[in-house]
Amino acid sequence: MTTDEIKSRNPLPAILSAAGVALLPKNGALQALCPFHSEKSPSFYAYPNQRYKCYGCGEAGDVIAFIQRTRNVTFRAACDLLSGAPMSDVPILIKAEPKIVEPISEAVESHHMKLFREQEGTESYAAAAKALGVSVESFRAVLAAWSEKQRAWMFPLRRSDGKIIGFRFRDTRGNKWSMAGGHSGLIMPRNKIGEELWLCEGPTDLLALLTLGITSAVARPSAFGGIQMAIDFAKRMNVGRVVICADADRKLNEKTGEIENVGLAGAMKLARLIGIPARLWQPPEGSKDVRAALIGGMAFDKLISGISEISP
Ligand SMILES: [Zn+2]
Repeated sequence: MTTDEIKSRNPLPAILSAAGVALLPKNGALQALCPFHSEKSPSFYAYPNQRYKCYGCGEAGDVIAFIQRTRNVTFRAACDLLSGAPMSDVPILIKAEPKIVEPISEAVESHHMKLFREQEGTESYAAAAKALGVSVESFRAVLAAWSEKQRAWMFPLRRSDGKIIGFRFRDTRGNKWSMAGGHSGLIMPRNKIGEELWLCEGPTDLLALLTLGITSAVARPSAFGGIQMAIDFAKRMNVGRVVICADADRKLNEKTGEIENVGLAGAMKLARLIGIPARLWQPPEGSKDVRAALIGGMAFDKLISGISEISP
């Protein structure tokens, strides 16, 4: 089946309705509350040309893109899904991340603190920080602890109010995974947050920022994860401005055949939504993120020169 046939068999309004998007006619188009970000007045539109666009968060595309985005599948898989029997429901919808995520139990939290206290002064703890190219103080600031069970370092993931909702794991080979609240939680240092907040991606970038002397910083779990939590946190801390770190995380878009910078796209999405003056930080040529640049010899002044204004 060609993509045109797929599109004509699956009218956009039908697929949107099946996904729970409530559409109302407006000026020849259909208007709805955006399924991709939380909002009180609708800025999401579906047009007669079978394309949608949100003027709040910038999400846009056709019915195939909608399935890709909401089911987190490739272009090919989305086409396969839409080529089957007419879709009566589209169950997995990435709604704005839930605002309330339950904290982990006190027992789990105190077990983690016990591990941290036992380990923080040891030589192997300092050696692990050194192996990652970051300071042992940065490890302590985020309460990093080695989990023998997972054979990996564990970093607490927190809600915007600081409560632990899960853990991010990283083994010594650099494999990463999460437990509980992993897609939405933030990694935070114990120190005070200042007037300017740095928002980076992943625990090791946060460790690198702390090592470089940037202590007013938190990490999101991934390029598109933790966006709502980061926004809530910035508001809660009353920060005046943010610096958003964009990893040079390039991936092939199977649909267009073009190389896309996922790290930059996630950072720009956060910048659009946060509602606080935002600047962008990008790694120097040849480095993919803050930690790689630090290992490559980047000092504080070089870090600061990586900041640029975001053109509207
Ligand atoms: Zn939106």
